Amino acid sequence: MKSTTLHPDQLFLGNSDQAWNYYQHAMKQSEKALKAPFALQTKPFSGISVAELNNLINRWDICPEEGTPIEEVLEQVGSSIIQHTMVVHDPNCVAHLHCPPLIPALAAEALVSATNQSMDSWDQSPSATLLEERVIQWLAKLFYDTSDCNGVFTSGGTQSNFMGLLLARDHYLKAHHDWDVKKRGLPPFASQLRIICSEAAHFTVKQSASLLGLGEDAVITIQTDSKQQMCPHDLERKLETMLAAKHIPFALVATAGTTDFGSIDPLEAIYTHTKKHHMWLHVDAAYGGALQLSTSYRNRLSGIEYADSITVDFHKLFYQPISCGAFLLKEKKHFQLLKLHADYLNPEEDELDGIPNLVGKSIQTTRRFDALKLYVSLQVLGRKGFAHLIESTLHITQYTASTLAHHAHFEIKNRTPHMNAIVFRYLPKHGDINGINLAIRQHLLASGEIVLAKTKVKDEVYLKFTLLNPRITETDIDHMIHLIEQIGNQFDQ
Ligand SMILES: *Cc1c(COP(=O)(O)O)cnc(C)c1O
Repeated sequence: MKSTTLHPDQLFLGNSDQAWNYYQHAMKQSEKALKAPFALQTKPFSGISVAELNNLINRWDICPEEGTPIEEVLEQVGSSIIQHTMVVHDPNCVAHLHCPPLIPALAAEALVSATNQSMDSWDQSPSATLLEERVIQWLAKLFYDTSDCNGVFTSGGTQSNFMGLLLARDHYLKAHHDWDVKKRGLPPFASQLRIICSEAAHFTVKQSASLLGLGEDAVITIQTDSKQQMCPHDLERKLETMLAAKHIPFALVATAGTTDFGSIDPLEAIYTHTKKHHMWLHVDAAYGGALQLSTSYRNRLSGIEYADSITVDFHKLFYQPISCGAFLLKEKKHFQLLKLHADYLNPEEDELDGIPNLVGKSIQTTRRFDALKLYVSLQVLGRKGFAHLIESTLHITQYTASTLAHHAHFEIKNRTPHMNAIVFRYLPKHGDINGINLAIRQHLLASGEIVLAKTKVKDEVYLKFTLLNPRITETDIDHMIHLIEQIGNQFDQ
C-alpha cells in the first residue's frame, strides 16, 4: 500500500482502531530499526568515513513525490542512519558530556511527543503546566532553602546561562541605575559593564555577553589553580583593577563541573566577593548539579545555595534524552524582568483569575513538556537510584585516575577529579608528544574502537575520558587504557 493513500484517521492519534493499529505498527517498526543495528554493534562507532557516509545519505531523494510504507522507510533508517550513529550506551564512548538515556525517560519521551503539549500557555498544557511547576519546585528546593525559589525548564545550559546573565544585567541596571533595559536598551555606560568567570568556564559565558550586547571583551577571566578551580586571590586582584578603572562588575559565573576537568569552583569563597560588591552570582552547574542528589557528594557543591541563579542540565548526569535542562532562581520575583504580555497567550485577566501561563518565565514560546521525562525517571529510580548511578561513576573515575597515575606511559592532569572527567596523555619515549596524542585519538575514532575527547591545556594536547555511563566497569577501563597504550607504542617508533 502506498502511504500516500493513508487516511487522516490513520495518520493521527484518535479513538479509532485504525489509528491505534497504525501507531502500534509504527512504534514496532521504530523499535526494530533500533534493535537490529544495536544487536550487531560491538564498538561505539562504525568507523565509516565522512565521504562514505555522505555517499550513503546523498543517495536518497529527501522528498519523493509518492510516499513509501513506514516499514520500508524505517528499515532504511535503521540500516543506514542508526547503524552509523554514535553509540552513547557503549562503555567505550567516553568523549563528551553525552549520556546514555534512561529507559523510563524514553517511555516518557513517547508520551511527551504524542500529547504534544506546549508549555507557553495553560490552554495548551493544563496538567503539564502544573506538573512542570511541581518538578521545578522540588528541584529549586533541592538547591535552595528559601520559600521564594523558582525556575523553569530550558533547552539546556546554553539557554540557562544566557538567562542568568540576562537577568543579572537587567536586575543590576534597574536596582543600581534605575535603568530599564527591556524598554530602553543598553545604557550609555554599557561599555563599563563586566562579567567575571574563570578561564575554565564554558564558552557560553562569552557567547551570552556577546548576545547581550556587551561584547566578549566584557568577560574578565580569572586564573585557575592547580586543581582547575577559580583562584580567589586572582579574583581579588582583578576586582581591584576593575574598580580602579571604573569598570562595573555586575555578575560572576562560577562553574560547578567544568567541561574538561569537572572541577568545581570554591563557591563559598567566591560568594564573599560577590556579596561585598553587590554582584549577581550565577552558578553554572550544568554538569555538576547532579551531585546534589548524592548524600555522599553533595558537600562538593556547598555554597551553591548562595547563587542568585543556577544552571542544571538533565541531559548530562541525570541521564535524560536531549534536550532537557533547567534555570533556577533564588528569588522568583526576578522573573518579572522577563515578563511580557501577549493577549493571545497570557492576558493579564488570566493572572487575576489565577491561571498560570509559563511563557512569562521563559525566553522560548512554544516549549516541550520535558519535565515529564525527568518526573517519570525520578519516580522509577527514586533519589537513591539516581544517587547510586552517579556515585558508581565517581568510583570508577577514581579507579581510572589511580590506574593512570601509577602507569609509566601516562600522565594524568587531575589526579583527584571532582566529577567523572579525567584529562591525561600518553607519554612517548621518542616521538612528538602532541602529535602522537592527536594521532591516538584520531586512530581510535577512525576504527570506532574508542571515542575519546581531546583538549588543550596550555597549548599541549591531552586526551579526555568523560565517564558518565554507569555501565562502565573496571575491565572496560583496563581495556581502554591498554588499547591506548598499544596504539601509542605503535606511533612512537
Ligand atoms: C554542557 C554545558 C553547557 C552547555 O549546555 P548545553 O546543554 O549544551 O546547551 C554549559 N556549561 C557547562 C559547564 C556545560 O557542561
